[in-house]
Amino acid sequence: MWNVNIGTIFPDIFPGTLGVSCLGKAHKKYWELFVQDFRNYANDKHNTVDDTPFGGGPGMVMKCNTIDSWLSDVYKKGKIIYMSPRGRTLNQSYAKELIKEDLYIICGRYEGVDCRVLNHWNVEEVSMGDYVLCGGEVASMALVETCARLIPGVLGNKESAEQDSFSNDLLEHDQYTKPNIWVPNNSEMSYNTPCVLRSGNHKAISDWKLSNSEAVTEKNRYDLWIEYIRKKEKNVHS
Ligand code: SAH
Repeated sequence: MWNVNIGTIFPDIFPGTLGVSCLGKAHKKYWELFVQDFRNYANDKHNTVDDTPFGGGPGMVMKCNTIDSWLSDVYKKGKIIYMSPRGRTLNQSYAKELIKEDLYIICGRYEGVDCRVLNHWNVEEVSMGDYVLCGGEVASMALVETCARLIPGVLGNKESAEQDSFSNDLLEHDQYTKPNIWVPNNSEMSYNTPCVLRSGNHKAISDWKLSNSEAVTEKNRYDLWIEYIRKKEKNVHS
């Protein structure tokens, strides 16, 4: 069982997307979510979780004591994460690492969290990408969703996570479904499905998927493409 604890000042947002579809069905069987309100850990009568930053500057900063009390209450064993634009960017291989341990996730708000509580608890900062959200809640949901679907048994189809984008250093190939010939509304155009995908020839189909994946990766993500070529050449030479 993979356990996830989330600390937030907006507990009502959860489970959100984590409660539907495959993840919702797998909840309590393969993974479990616990959400706590930081305000319940505040130590004054107004349940204050934030204060003005030392050194001035805009906004408020989340106080150490509430987060410290939350962790003292819930932490048993596992990794503590602070969702933060300053962190290591989440990707598929990092997500595979993260399901090996239970997680305790701090959702920041305002200008962020007093760094002392992060240092004290040896917290790892994890980012969703080079942009700034209003809070860590959506980011934590994206992280948990990315991780939970990698737990064996969570996805209906065993193979689908293995074939997803990034699993083999490439983006996924183009997808098609019925009808074989699609005519858009109010259009003279029609679009076919590649014949090979309906040929029943498994070798030809997997060759098509690989070369299509390569073409999509080269076009959309040149950084991944260069890395893929580099690894491929290394394999040929070693
Ligand atoms: N002043 C901070 C941003 C604060 S945004 C800075 O410039 O770094 C408020 C909260 O939203 C953060 O504490 C964090 O928990 C969350 N957040 C914002 N952007 C994020 C991102 N890209 N990835 C993960 N969490 C993010």
